[in-house]
Amino acid sequence: MGQRKKRKTMSIKRININRFLTTTFYDPSPHRLSNESKPVSERTLPLIYSCEKCGCNVSFKTEDFRKHNEFNYTNLQLEDKKEIDSALRANAIKRESFIDFYCPNCKQATTILFTGGPSGYWGQFAFNISHVFVSKSDSSKGKVNLIKKIKRILKEQKIR
Ligand SMILES: [Zn+2]
Repeated sequence: MGQRKKRKTMSIKRININRFLTTTFYDPSPHRLSNESKPVSERTLPLIYSCEKCGCNVSFKTEDFRKHNEFNYTNLQLEDKKEIDSALRANAIKRESFIDFYCPNCKQATTILFTGGPSGYWGQFAFNISHVFVSKSDSSKGKVNLIKKIKRILKEQKIR
């Protein structure tokens, strides 16, 4: 059996978009087909992401999403971008448009995936957020390993 290559201590975590975003979509068109759709006034912007790690608020305008729509520009370092991309592939998530950034406070790498396009009669830009991913440097894993190590030491002491 070949030895497994050791993975970097980084993991990508999908977070609950409804919990960390003030809104997950924006559609300026007042004409909605479904009665359950929210009225225009409730489709609030700016959209505020409150950092999953430190709670820092990062705010976005519709224009930010319009700019990044179908535009392959990353604000992340290549290594972090690659981690996110491989996590998306592993989860069979289609690469959509994205806005990625480091939290201005705790520097956690964050990627917002969305689809955007013209909406309604006037074809105004609308978007819909599907996922938010954050990069975790694996401190929790480190903790688990530490606990395992302590348990092992305790066991060894018992044997003696
Ligand atoms: Zn943060």
